[in-house]
Amino acid sequence: MDFEDFVQDLSSLEVISKDNQKIAVKLSGVPLQYANALRRVCLNGVPVFAIDTVDIIENSSVLPDEGLAHRLGLIPITTDLGRFNEPSKCQCQSEAGCSNCKVMLVLDSGDSDVTRTILSNELSSEDDSIKPVSDKIPIVQLAPGQRIKIECYARLGRGTEHAKWNSATISTLTDTDKEDVKVLTVESTGSLNPEQIIISGVDEVSSRLGQFKDMIDHIEE
Ligand SMILES: [Zn+2]
Repeated sequence: MDFEDFVQDLSSLEVISKDNQKIAVKLSGVPLQYANALRRVCLNGVPVFAIDTVDIIENSSVLPDEGLAHRLGLIPITTDLGRFNEPSKCQCQSEAGCSNCKVMLVLDSGDSDVTRTILSNELSSEDDSIKPVSDKIPIVQLAPGQRIKIECYARLGRGTEHAKWNSATISTLTDTDKEDVKVLTVESTGSLNPEQIIISGVDEVSSRLGQFKDMIDHIEE
């Protein structure tokens, strides 16, 4: 059985358990190399949104600009794969990006006379479907009189480029009593629902194998 047969027959994926964060599926009769390829792709081969560039308009906090940008990059962002393109595959083909490949989020802490922690809920996104997965992620603490004002741009990327684009926090393959049955467990960062990660992962492995096949055919000619 090759991977394409396996893809056509998604019934070989039997869901054992599933919630908003984590899914476990039984892979029956899937050769180990394909099962392992799927595991790796679920971890870092499915595109998700993350903040990529940050324009700092004002930062009088104790955190240096690059520290602030780093923290913003690590905030998991909800992802809508149906509506957005990866920049390299977007028809705009522009470094500046367009509304199909880039989303702006802004944060202006304003002035305050008490010490307070700026949380991810203060990031406001121009697109409702692309925003921090949680409202409660601390970004920076501001003392009275300190302020941050920033413009961030989020885009789709893959964990192979930088871990901030990992689609899953955990992706494991475990053995069962039966030799040809493995269990794939995927825990999402929250950007995508775990089922979507596996479905996109199957598409991704299948398309990579297709490209590889084309390449081999080309060599043979
Ligand atoms: Zn674009």
